[in-house]
Amino acid sequence: MLVLTEDLADRIRKHGVETYPNECCGALLGTDREDGREVRELFPLVNRRNDSPRSRFSITPDDFRAAEAAARERRLELVGWYHSHPDHPALPSEYDREHAWPWYSYVIVSVAEREPKQITSWRLADDRTRFAPEEISVSHRVAPTQATR
Ligand SMILES: [Zn+2]
Repeated sequence: MLVLTEDLADRIRKHGVETYPNECCGALLGTDREDGREVRELFPLVNRRNDSPRSRFSITPDDFRAAEAAARERRLELVGWYHSHPDHPALPSEYDREHAWPWYSYVIVSVAEREPKQITSWRLADDRTRFAPEEISVSHRVAPTQATR
């Protein structure tokens, strides 16, 4: 189970709309505890694929280090990655599976004709043969109630 606030889900959707028709990508910073994994911050990355940015994204070793440093700075962990699928469903591709690492959450947002659609999350099996869906729980942060007197 991956916990995401509505605000963070929105920012992932917006990033996918901004880079459309290319894929966006970024890192998910958060906490990973026994009772669940929670995304607290995003770390947007630049899609460095010049050959086919519409259907590929790549995370370079520098991106990886920068994302880990950003997480440490905020006292969070690097818990996963997100990217968009322009005009494709929010299902991981073969390319995604071949380039994924176990343990991390892989969030995919589908963007169809500039409109954000479904958001899904996936975890790679330890033997790396397949992705298993991970349930996303979008939490609506409750605004602090005003004290009435
Ligand atoms: Zn993909």
